[in-house]
Amino acid sequence: MTTTNELIELSERRSAHNYHPLPVVIREAQGAWVVDVEGRRYLDCLAGYSSLNFGHGNPKIIEAAQAQLARLTLTSRAFFHDQFAAFAAGLGDLTGKDMVLPMNTGAEAVETAIKVARKWGYEVKGVAADQANIIVMEDNFHGRTTTIVSFSTDPDAHDGFGPYTPGFRVVKYGSIEAIREAVDANTVAVLLEPIQGEAGVLVPPDGYLTQVRELCTAENILMIADEIQSGLGRTGDTFACDHENVVPDVYVLGKALGGGVVPVSAIAANADVLGVIKPGQHGSTFGGNPLACAVASAVIDLLGTGEYQRRAAELGAVLHERLNALVGRGVVAVRGRGLWAGVDIDPSLATGRQVSEALMRHGVLAKDTHGSTIRLAPPIVVTEEDLSWAVDRLADVLAEL
Ligand code: PLP
Repeated sequence: MTTTNELIELSERRSAHNYHPLPVVIREAQGAWVVDVEGRRYLDCLAGYSSLNFGHGNPKIIEAAQAQLARLTLTSRAFFHDQFAAFAAGLGDLTGKDMVLPMNTGAEAVETAIKVARKWGYEVKGVAADQANIIVMEDNFHGRTTTIVSFSTDPDAHDGFGPYTPGFRVVKYGSIEAIREAVDANTVAVLLEPIQGEAGVLVPPDGYLTQVRELCTAENILMIADEIQSGLGRTGDTFACDHENVVPDVYVLGKALGGGVVPVSAIAANADVLGVIKPGQHGSTFGGNPLACAVASAVIDLLGTGEYQRRAAELGAVLHERLNALVGRGVVAVRGRGLWAGVDIDPSLATGRQVSEALMRHGVLAKDTHGSTIRLAPPIVVTEEDLSWAVDRLADVLAEL
């Protein structure tokens, strides 16, 4: 049973339909290219929703993973292991924070940030028990757990999963006034994506992150930046917040931290914030395991060279210039930063899904998000030539509409 149709039919019959994948079955990959079970090659322009920033099969990451696989994979946090200290210190240094708390998936890291913010609110800020509120953004995407979908404004993500977790105030993204109006004495945190990925790579107005930082500082509120998709090189900086030289109180990281090999997430914060968590109050069997730490340490080393950030900035400039030339030719708008773009297709011509399927037939894998937007986020190891080739294929697809 190796053909595309057979494998798709069995997958669809025997698994929940919580995704609507493009009809391609991938067998192997290297760098920015993947190969399907029929031997067809595609340029990966999604990179595992930005988990594969360093490319498929990155030699440094694979080497670290293989060495660790053969030595020690799991201890649980009941014991220390020899990879943990270097990981914690390395991620702390990369973020400029005293401490980290590792988990596995992005949603778990967001949950961790929420729990830490609430506890900090009660124990440090002095908010009365169970009264804490956290300000969140319209069109946010922070994951799929019941607490997180409680404050999602996307009906697909939110509806039908109640009763919902209270304690969140949803405000307009990009408006400092909206945050200001929502703040009260019980506000413990503002949680935001510095660029909203799932919403269509929405970049907030210049100066917004700085204003949020200033407001949070003035009001004694934690600024929590969910950099799970935007962080670790994607935007041309280590973190999307770096673009405005903003340092949040809490970084939330995931996706590329695991190098596309294992799920690794974490939050990073200073001791006055993360110090509120005591033994028994939070944890995860797999969080911070030796394999995860070895892989994440390799990722941190790659970021330490600055090469990926530089490359994302340079290739991003090419990508945006080329995409902007398509505005008026089937594209109505292009947004993004670095090697990350949301491309709005003219909805009178085609849906994002139709364009993604057509791109697939031309050898480019990209995915629609929210109706008529295509998200482009290739591995940062992509060559300029391949990137240009992908934009040419998009131009071909648009010309055929
Ligand atoms: N936060 C952001 C900004 C994301 O983009 C995502 C995933 O797309 C998540 C959180 C959730 O991460 P995970 O799917 O690993 O739970």
